[in-house]
Amino acid sequence: MVSLSLTLPTFRHGIHPEEYKKATECMPVERMPFTKRYILPLSQHTGAPVKPIVRPGETVRRGQLIAEPGAFVSMALHSPVSGTVTSIAVHRHPNGQLQPAIEIEADPFATQKLAAKPPLDWRSMSSKEFVDHVQKAGLVGLGGAAFPTHVKYAVPEGKQIERLVINGCECEPFLTCDHRIMVERADAILRGIEIVAEKLGVKSTTIGIEQNKPDAVEALRRPATGGRPVHVVPLKVKYPQGAEKMLIKALFGVEVPAGKLPLDVNIVVNNVGTMAALADYFDRGIPMIERMVTVSGPGIKRPANLMIPIGTLVRDVLDHCGGLLPETKLVVMGGPMMGMPLASLDVPVLKGTSGLLAFTEVETHFPTEYACVRCGRCLDACPNFLNASLLGRLAKAGRYEEMEKMHIMDCMECGSCSFSCPSHIPIIQLIRVAKGALRERKAK
Ligand code: SF4
Ligand code: SF4
Repeated sequence: MVSLSLTLPTFRHGIHPEEYKKATECMPVERMPFTKRYILPLSQHTGAPVKPIVRPGETVRRGQLIAEPGAFVSMALHSPVSGTVTSIAVHRHPNGQLQPAIEIEADPFATQKLAAKPPLDWRSMSSKEFVDHVQKAGLVGLGGAAFPTHVKYAVPEGKQIERLVINGCECEPFLTCDHRIMVERADAILRGIEIVAEKLGVKSTTIGIEQNKPDAVEALRRPATGGRPVHVVPLKVKYPQGAEKMLIKALFGVEVPAGKLPLDVNIVVNNVGTMAALADYFDRGIPMIERMVTVSGPGIKRPANLMIPIGTLVRDVLDHCGGLLPETKLVVMGGPMMGMPLASLDVPVLKGTSGLLAFTEVETHFPTEYACVRCGRCLDACPNFLNASLLGRLAKAGRYEEMEKMHIMDCMECGSCSFSCPSHIPIIQLIRVAKGALRERKAK
């Protein structure tokens, strides 16, 4: 067991929300049964939408390529089931918009067995071939942002990645899917690390895990594979430790400058689930067709950690978990801090979906907003050292240009400021509106 210590590494500022992980942290991952209908949005990752290569009426196999990357910052999309493409049309996306998607009806008589493929000889691949393969695998960051993984491995000429950082923090309350991956799939994670560390030629690999997951720390503390050291570092429990820049600061004390990427300080950060999925592709030829999701919250009858085919409808997942309690008022996709409230349950699980959380009236009650008392708690909470109080006041006054000078675009929308505000000022919502307005003005 890892001992509790006040000297564990962390970053400055941040908050300590209640964890609420007990309901699922010890629940082994179970497989979601196949359902009838799957919706695969063409845009479910950061970057350009994918381009379909199948037509309505066409029969597809589980794991078959159904759409190609639409650009470099885009990735491949594969069928999560064997069945028939029924349409390529607009469907409701979890973000509330109507967006093009491929609809597949599962064949009720298909075995859904994946054809075994021989391992890929990744050692003999050039850097470009390796990057192309990761794009073909359809891999995106599984921590929530869904950034295409291969883009991080396309290191510009003259740059050298020195450190590979693996994110096992899982700092959002309720979520436990990464925790279970670390406990149940440690071998696959270490295999993924071996492949990436060798292909990027990194000097060291560090896995950062919050200390509330001692079994995950134990599971990953193994002799290094491939002769490259892998350090497992327990971190203080604090939100938003899983944000890339916060994790880098916590582990090495290195600051990623505003507007820059981890690559600019010679670091690549990947999620633990992404490493396991990468190993599945290179060793067994399995592309990204499913992911682990935590289903939890006071409004769900049977909380669970599920392995779910991408494109499964949220309604089907919730039904599999016994359904919602009558007092449920809201379902959120992702964690409670940064997740998306769903306007409809007939939307699909995406590659980036880490959680489905059901909340009742008690958790969704919005307390009365009072005037700012200038207490400074939001300033103490902001991990990016932004003046959240002032940003909130400027947003209310519509003074968006001034907010830009106050570095509003460096806000990662973690919600720590709103969480700590005794006046219940919805600072994060105000900032989101202002950022959206600024982006629109720039686009014109
Ligand atoms: S201002 Fe942005 S980055 Fe700072 S605490 Fe609020 S949401 Fe997080
Ligand atoms: S925490 Fe709320 S009340 Fe305190 S300074 Fe910030 S905005 Fe004002």
